[in-house]
Amino acid sequence: MPHHPLHEPVLAWYAADARDLPWRRPGRTPWGVLVSEVMLQQTPVSRVLPAWTAWTARWPDPAALAAEPAAEAIRMWDRLGYPRRALRLHEAAGVMVDRHGGEVPRDHADLLALPGVGAYTAAAVASFAFGQRHPVVDTNVRRLLARAVTGEAQAAPSLTAAETRLAGELVPDAPGTAARWAVAAMELGALVCTARSPRCGGCPVRDLCRWRRLGAPEATGPRRRAQGYAGTDRYVRGLLLAALRSATAPLTAAALVDLVPDAVLRDPLQRDRALDGLVADGLVDPLPRNRFQLPGLSAPTVSVPENPVPKVPAPTPVDSTVAGESSWKR
Ligand code: SF4
Repeated sequence: MPHHPLHEPVLAWYAADARDLPWRRPGRTPWGVLVSEVMLQQTPVSRVLPAWTAWTARWPDPAALAAEPAAEAIRMWDRLGYPRRALRLHEAAGVMVDRHGGEVPRDHADLLALPGVGAYTAAAVASFAFGQRHPVVDTNVRRLLARAVTGEAQAAPSLTAAETRLAGELVPDAPGTAARWAVAAMELGALVCTARSPRCGGCPVRDLCRWRRLGAPEATGPRRRAQGYAGTDRYVRGLLLAALRSATAPLTAAALVDLVPDAVLRDPLQRDRALDGLVADGLVDPLPRNRFQLPGLSAPTVSVPENPVPKVPAPTPVDSTVAGESSWKR
């Protein structure tokens, strides 16, 4: 689209008020952008910042990560939640070494072919790292467009064809401007047009916003209810994985149980189901004699210590209401 009335105010607002995030600074690398986008898929900025800094300092490019076992990626992922992302990022690093000379590919189709990279992340990396022209549609952008353009209080529960079409129509023609528009719209949705209490008074598009012109009607769709986290299978998986991350040797199933607070493991079926799930997802390697360790480590020759790690604290809760690839909270 050559010009839309939203472009100018949103771009001007971003130039003045955007957060200074390291993956947006001049000198950022495509690898740093990719790592940030994978981490931000389901984890808020405040928790991603220290993790991203540590990750990119240790592994400044894909080759550095690919040279280490997947277990190290899972250890470094620590408590960001949804640790399969770490595994996929490690796999993606291997693919970039094997097929792209150790570089993050520029081509959208090549990005999309990387493990763990879906439509949102491929578009985001192509746009933010390489300045290309793509619609980048995360939950923040969907909410902003739903309100400002469509006049709805909230976006549909999942991405619709109409939203995708609208986002595509709004992308400015010039690639550089398109890339700035993508990040600016996302930032405005994250900081101003927030889910629970939009700050319309400070919004640069308040005079253009269709939802406001309609009198800010209530949402009509079903309310999204937050799911509990403690006690879920995902919570137990987090505890078991934390124990294995801290271990210096493989752990038996019995040792794992000893290391995890009793209350959540009263149900042996849930415990075993969680462990089976970790193995099925490739996050844990099962070893002979009912022992377990993080993946990609060589088979141990040492005996299993009695109590090789301290008790494991509960995993940090992460929002479980939104699963999927697009970032949800920035
Ligand atoms: S005026 Fe309010 S509802 Fe409309 S886009 Fe801005 S923050 Fe969102």
